[in-house]
Amino acid sequence: MNIKNCRNCGKMFNYITGPIVCPNCREAVEAKFQEVKQYIRDHKGVGIAEVSEACSVDAAQIRQWLRDDRLEVTEDSALMLNCEGCGAPIRSGRFCDRCKTNMANTFGSILNANKPKTEFKRPEKDSPKMRFLDQ
Ligand SMILES: [Zn+2]
Ligand SMILES: [Zn+2]
Repeated sequence: MNIKNCRNCGKMFNYITGPIVCPNCREAVEAKFQEVKQYIRDHKGVGIAEVSEACSVDAAQIRQWLRDDRLEVTEDSALMLNCEGCGAPIRSGRFCDRCKTNMANTFGSILNANKPKTEFKRPEKDSPKMRFLDQ
């Protein structure tokens, strides 16, 4: 058992995983999320501030949903985030496509850089065998 105080209402609850929010509040947030999603669908081009006021949701919460890729906004929407890599406007997640590609390339080159190391180990493994043959 892992008892924690809900970050939202302060009630004690049995914490399992995810944000430190009790099941009741989690449900309320989920309901809010559906409301926000619906509002954005019905009002094309709304900004975060407007949604925040209309649905009485924290702008930070809306940004969090966008970052989590839970909310995806349309091409002409004013709901915009900035790429954490280069600051370019993006519609969801944390990075723009260009930064995502860059990161994938960097990751690939790290993998390649590690390759010679594993290959280098092979001759060491072979040497005891050679000694054995010499005896
Ligand atoms: Zn709560
Ligand atoms: Zn970027």
